[in-house]
Amino acid sequence: MSDAVLHKILESIEALKKDQESLAVKLDSFQAQNKEELKKLQEKLNPTTSISKTTVIANKVIVDEKETEELQPRASLEPSSEPNKQSIYSDRLIILTTYPDQFGIKPISLKWGELDPIVRGPIVASRHPKSIKIRNAIGAYGGSYCVYRALAVAMGALDPNHLPDFKNTEPTVEIGPHPQWGNPDKIVSFDPFGHIATTCFANQISQGIDIRPTIAITRAHMKLAEIENSVKEGRLQIDGKVVLNDTGELNVVKAAVEPVWYLPGVAARFGIDEGLLRRALFEDTGGMYPELVTRPDLKVFLPPIGGLSVYIFGNPKNVSDASKKLTVRVHDECNGSDVFGSDICTCRPYLIFGMEECVKEAQNGGSGVIVYFRKEGRALGEVTKYLVYNARKRSTGGDTADNYFLRTENVAGVKDMRFQALMPDVLHWLGITKIDRMMSMSNMKYEAIVGSGIAIHERIPIPDELIPPDSRVEIDAKIADGYFSGGKILSKEELTKVRGREWDDIQH
Ligand SMILES: [Zn+2]
Repeated sequence: MSDAVLHKILESIEALKKDQESLAVKLDSFQAQNKEELKKLQEKLNPTTSISKTTVIANKVIVDEKETEELQPRASLEPSSEPNKQSIYSDRLIILTTYPDQFGIKPISLKWGELDPIVRGPIVASRHPKSIKIRNAIGAYGGSYCVYRALAVAMGALDPNHLPDFKNTEPTVEIGPHPQWGNPDKIVSFDPFGHIATTCFANQISQGIDIRPTIAITRAHMKLAEIENSVKEGRLQIDGKVVLNDTGELNVVKAAVEPVWYLPGVAARFGIDEGLLRRALFEDTGGMYPELVTRPDLKVFLPPIGGLSVYIFGNPKNVSDASKKLTVRVHDECNGSDVFGSDICTCRPYLIFGMEECVKEAQNGGSGVIVYFRKEGRALGEVTKYLVYNARKRSTGGDTADNYFLRTENVAGVKDMRFQALMPDVLHWLGITKIDRMMSMSNMKYEAIVGSGIAIHERIPIPDELIPPDSRVEIDAKIADGYFSGGKILSKEELTKVRGREWDDIQH
């Protein structure tokens, strides 16, 4: 193609762009001037009228002044027996998505990676009338629980404009600030200031902006049968501080963390393009978050996934003190074993063993940390996991270790979706710079932690006597796949002989 032709095409594109821009400006001013008329038009439409009709006039952000007034709580919290014919949102336009530079849109400043939270700015993810124009995050507060909030609103049990009262909800212990909080590369998957949001941004909250903590820190006593046994059998000593009595009651500080993804940082962590990440998130959430595509200026996304919990044994100040020893277990959820005691894997035994070692470290003047990620079934979910159990147990030749990963790959397409690259964030948030004893055999976890700049001095595999017989298939397959172990790595031939329980041997 000649230069002249190219030049002509470019000129045409420029002209088109200018036309479009001037049209957009005209539309903005038209909509601003005709706000009242638009509202009347909206009122004429039945609330049950097809959404597409409503959205034609609602593609721009126009918030009725009346909506910004505080609403009174509803008289009854009981779901109505009569279907609610009056839409809760009848006086609000449906805003399908927003665009940068759109009339009325002015996101509150957010500088990810700033150590001073005031300079960093709050995370505002709410579509509350007073927040929607200044929102600087895509998604909703509460992780996956935002769906239950929607249900509560739809049932009439929750005022859609309810603003939480955060009195007395502040953390029970101080964590941080640590220098890592001001490093945009160290923490990208949650808000390091999430637990102090209500104090840092009290001013904005008092103005009616819907800012919510994404981390909460509390304390608890916990009792587990295995820990009680450890005390009875003399493996754990009662010290009145960490182990409180002969029932094995433990004293613990714990934190719950909801995900807040800084998309450029998440993309960089996985070595992918941010645009590709946004597109994939948009597509594979069924198109739930159009702003992933239409708002490249919004860099933060609150994904609808489970978060993580942190359990701290011993003095929380010791965790970030490099002169004190630290034991850590990073555990990914396995409901079947962790809670219900299934013996097909080593999850609960390893988790409890990890806790026991954390307690011992705390009693020896150090501290222990358990991090529990909601990544059920290697983040494939429990349905996939049970399907794989069935496929394994019904295999020709039985449930053998050589085919362990293949069965998962057949169903899910991959053997693991936990992708540990984001996992070390929580360790940096806690101010950890080294781990003395790592209670994990996972190479993915090890490499992610060490790769993020935290040294691991020793890796402790699960002791052989804690491995349930039916879970030998899993553990031997994992060791052969590269998991760290003090034990023998079996050959392919030997793996075919490691066989799990067959269902036929169980009488129903
Ligand atoms: Zn498990």
